[in-house]
Amino acid sequence: MNEVEFTEQLKGLKTDGKTTTELYNEISALALNYGLSKATAPATKNAYYFSMEFLIGRSFFNNLMELGVLETVRGILAEKGVDINVFEEIEDAALGNGGLGRLAACFLDSAAGVGLPLHGYGIRYKYGLFKQAIENGFQVELPDDWQRFGDPWSIRRESEKRLIKFADMTVTAVPYDMPVFGKRVNFLRLWQAEGSEKAQKISEYLYPADDTEDGKMLRLRQEYFFSAAAVGELVEKHAKKHGKNFDNFADFNVIQLNDTHPVLASAEFIRKLTAEYKVPFPDALGIAKKTFAYTNHTVLPEALECWNADLVKKILPDIYSVLIKIHLRQREELTALKCSAEEISEMSIYASDRFSMANLAVYIGKSVNGVAKLHTEILENNLFKTAYKYYPEKFQNKTNGITQRRWLMLCNKELSELIDETIGEKWRNDISLLSGINSHIRDITDGFIKVKSKKKSQLFDYIKKHEGVEIPDGFIVYSQVKRLHEYKRQLMTAFAILGIYKGLKSGSIKDFQPSVFIFGAKSAPAYRRAKAIIKFINEIAVKVNSDEATNGLLKVVFVRNYNVSYAEKIVAGTDVSLQVSTAGLEASGTGNMKFMMNGAVTCGTMDGANIEIVELAGLENNYIFGEEVDGIERLKKVGYDPCKLLKSNTLHSFAASTLIDGTFSDGGSGDFKELYDALTVGASWHKPDNYFVLHDLQSYVDALLKINADYKNKKEFAVKQLKNIANSAYFSSDRTIKEYATDIWEIE
Ligand SMILES: *Cc1c(COP(=O)(O)O)cnc(C)c1O
Repeated sequence: MNEVEFTEQLKGLKTDGKTTTELYNEISALALNYGLSKATAPATKNAYYFSMEFLIGRSFFNNLMELGVLETVRGILAEKGVDINVFEEIEDAALGNGGLGRLAACFLDSAAGVGLPLHGYGIRYKYGLFKQAIENGFQVELPDDWQRFGDPWSIRRESEKRLIKFADMTVTAVPYDMPVFGKRVNFLRLWQAEGSEKAQKISEYLYPADDTEDGKMLRLRQEYFFSAAAVGELVEKHAKKHGKNFDNFADFNVIQLNDTHPVLASAEFIRKLTAEYKVPFPDALGIAKKTFAYTNHTVLPEALECWNADLVKKILPDIYSVLIKIHLRQREELTALKCSAEEISEMSIYASDRFSMANLAVYIGKSVNGVAKLHTEILENNLFKTAYKYYPEKFQNKTNGITQRRWLMLCNKELSELIDETIGEKWRNDISLLSGINSHIRDITDGFIKVKSKKKSQLFDYIKKHEGVEIPDGFIVYSQVKRLHEYKRQLMTAFAILGIYKGLKSGSIKDFQPSVFIFGAKSAPAYRRAKAIIKFINEIAVKVNSDEATNGLLKVVFVRNYNVSYAEKIVAGTDVSLQVSTAGLEASGTGNMKFMMNGAVTCGTMDGANIEIVELAGLENNYIFGEEVDGIERLKKVGYDPCKLLKSNTLHSFAASTLIDGTFSDGGSGDFKELYDALTVGASWHKPDNYFVLHDLQSYVDALLKINADYKNKKEFAVKQLKNIANSAYFSSDRTIKEYATDIWEIE
């Protein structure tokens, strides 16, 4: 089908009396056929991205754009009296929790966009990340039945189903392919578990928490399930084509492990080669070491997966044996390298009856990468220090990126058009050209201010409709949208807002430009303190928004069910991007990049990719505050006592006290007291104020007020925002994916 035929068929489509869902399915099916007709010849060497999460979002608009027919479809539908925006009703495919899953989706988009053969493998969860409702200020989780409008962008490949064996059951894995359109047509292959009721459970739910102890066994089954399905397919395809010689497997295939979740794939690969193809163990291990590469995404100790050996032995006895063999082999190698006993135990894949997935990934991986410069340094000097000492050549940095197609062209058409007018349209095919804006900044400030205020009022309209909160035009928009986690420090923003609110009421803050703080965040269902922070923010919002004395100057909104589609609106309509994690804990961040590309200045700490953002866009065009990594390390050594900050009559004591002095109600749950205790005496294994919220609070408020004052000069502020846009090309995932292709995958 060519474009003319596609257009003709669309024109012939009857729309009268059809529901949105019917139209969505029919138009998508038509576009899918058109897209598949552009299919590219298979590449010699392919890269495969194994990931437990693909946070795809809505495919409809993005795919039409990638196919170059979005405007055509918009026009034809308009002639038929159908507004294309009705398809905003269609659910996001939220098959991921946050940044890690969204990165996987951006990588697939960019690989197709620049013409690299990269395909994704993951799980086709029946229910994606829960839908978040807010009741009385508390988060409530509802099932996310993302397929209820149908799934017209997936193709079920019945004939390619496979059997996955556990000790206690056999599960059928059925692949569904979602094409990814661009210069190439690549595939995201998601496996669905079928068979007994117990079997189906494996692909029923995305685990909303990537950091809790719950349901360990099911999670282990999920990880093995899709890893084994993918590895089985790749190995058998190779055997069919090249006979049973696997020495050249890595010449045709490379597998990127997105965090530790799919690391069992390497053990399954060795199991399959040794057990089914009689490849000697050392050879199979050697081939694995050329095939797999590992990306680390976090240094938080609770998120580095370890599997209980008994559990593995119970449901995956053959994998258990393979892991033990790898372990023994690793010991031999490390002994030969003259590692000390302590060093061996640090790097060991098996210790205290647990298998460390990170250590296995570092041992097998031909490459180990962090996701921002600072993060990679922390891996080398801290988390994987010993491995780095013995295998320095494995380590490399690949700073994350985001796809400008979704995160600029699709979500900010108006800004994209301003860029077209300023530097021509070639940047749409070569994002590095965006830097051309640098030489026109002062000419386009007025145009930019217009675009920004348009995106802000679109966002305000949407928020009014969905959250019932009215934000007057002209308000400065500060946004903090991301998963809710203590290290991301939404609580610090909440405290800062209280500080500003108090200052406005007392009159100590004068000449304040009207501002709104927008939060969006889901908390893992079992993460009590994170949920308490959501309630706390909602309590603050009620109080601040209803205070007639200040609500012409200050508003707070917590948007419900933050997801990719909401993010598209928020990043376009924001002035100030809040990226305030405790230094050393946010591996990279990608939200920060989306905001930058849409012209928000960053108010943040020297953490993750924020460091590279200010390096490129200029410290003077962003607002950096707070303790840096070295300072945090020093504080930890000498002993940080947050209670000292609470003694005098300070901002700190005022803000923290609101958790316990009855200013706000937690509905009798005791949640706020728990937050207070976490700050003052520590919670579980955490030290008091483990994330240095109180320590950085005052400098945060100062930074927010500095921004507020600077905003008075709208033109100069627009210059700062434009400098960010003009220097954001580095954060395109097109750049990132090309680096992976050259430095790790060796594909073209
Ligand atoms: C980009 C994105 C994230 C990641 O945000 P960070 O600020 O980097 O944590 C999370 N969720 C959604 C829906 C996103 O689009």
